[in-house]
Amino acid sequence: MAANLDWNNLGFGYIKTPYRFVCNYKNGKWDDGEITTDDKIVLTECAGVLQYAQTAFEGLKAYRTESGNIVCFRPDLNAERMIDSANRLEMPALPKEKFLEAVEKVVAANKDFVPPYGSGATLYIRPFMFGSSAVIGVKPAEEYQFRMFATPVGPYFKGGVKPITIRVSDFDRAAPHGTGHIKAGLNYAMSLHAIVDAHKKGFDENLYLDPATRTFVEETGGANFLFVTKDGKVVTPKSDSILPSITRRSLCFVAEKYLGLTVEHRPVKLEEVYDFAECGLCGTAAVISPVGKIVDHGKEIVFGDKIGPITQKLYDTLTGIQMGRLEAPEGWIKVIE
Ligand SMILES: *Cc1c(COP(=O)(O)O)cnc(C)c1O
Repeated sequence: MAANLDWNNLGFGYIKTPYRFVCNYKNGKWDDGEITTDDKIVLTECAGVLQYAQTAFEGLKAYRTESGNIVCFRPDLNAERMIDSANRLEMPALPKEKFLEAVEKVVAANKDFVPPYGSGATLYIRPFMFGSSAVIGVKPAEEYQFRMFATPVGPYFKGGVKPITIRVSDFDRAAPHGTGHIKAGLNYAMSLHAIVDAHKKGFDENLYLDPATRTFVEETGGANFLFVTKDGKVVTPKSDSILPSITRRSLCFVAEKYLGLTVEHRPVKLEEVYDFAECGLCGTAAVISPVGKIVDHGKEIVFGDKIGPITQKLYDTLTGIQMGRLEAPEGWIKVIE
């Protein structure tokens, strides 16, 4: 029986669902893990995560398709990315199979909270892991916890898609050779001031430049850029300090294989962006959020107040694949039930 929620009016906030998966790393190995109803974590005050921010996370969604199945979109890539994050933060990697088992169990246990097809709402899944044992001298913790919970979230574009306005930020997001390419909580902690400041000044998001030269486009706080040139090519910025978005990688595949477009993944100078025709932000939350305007210290790059035609096509194709209206490439859709 579906939970009694107002699916059409959900926001993007935490709603506690009944079940989550918990797994602990101790004495050099992960235990089997289990589904639990306990949403509370009891930790020593000196836990590695609390003292030195040793934590990483992931984000993915479960959808109800047109035919009524519950599916997840490419969870294997989230599992792989979490292994990369763990390695960079000196945390023990959670085996891919364990991650995928957790996705299956958490979604199945909370299936009443997977919103109905057509509501635009989805079940957001949040895997994360952190150093749980005491650490006072700076070093990796010895014990870790992996958790995965789920929370229903509303459609990203309530009342239609409205292009956003972003600014070129004077703050940096990730250092060269730093942690920009992994999904670490610390990347977000340091972006909070920049986003609060952007909102105060009337901007929706920050465009971060490469900190070394401040001439190349990196990404925003939580989404990769996708540009379309005037002659219809798709261009996405390449840099070692950009988080490899699964949505962006999927959109590039769709652009090439479904829509027959030319795709370039390469360094992109901010200067070049003045000549582009369309701009969008890619991430699990919105798939693509169109950008209407980029403000660069008083100069404006205007893409317009409507979503661009190629951005729209990319959005329709990828969401069509996710919702089961279009045939998916092999291995993209994991059916839960
Ligand atoms: C999670 C995230 C994205 C989007 O990645 P998806 O896998 O598409 O959800 C982009 N940039 C940053 C910094 C992120 O943390």
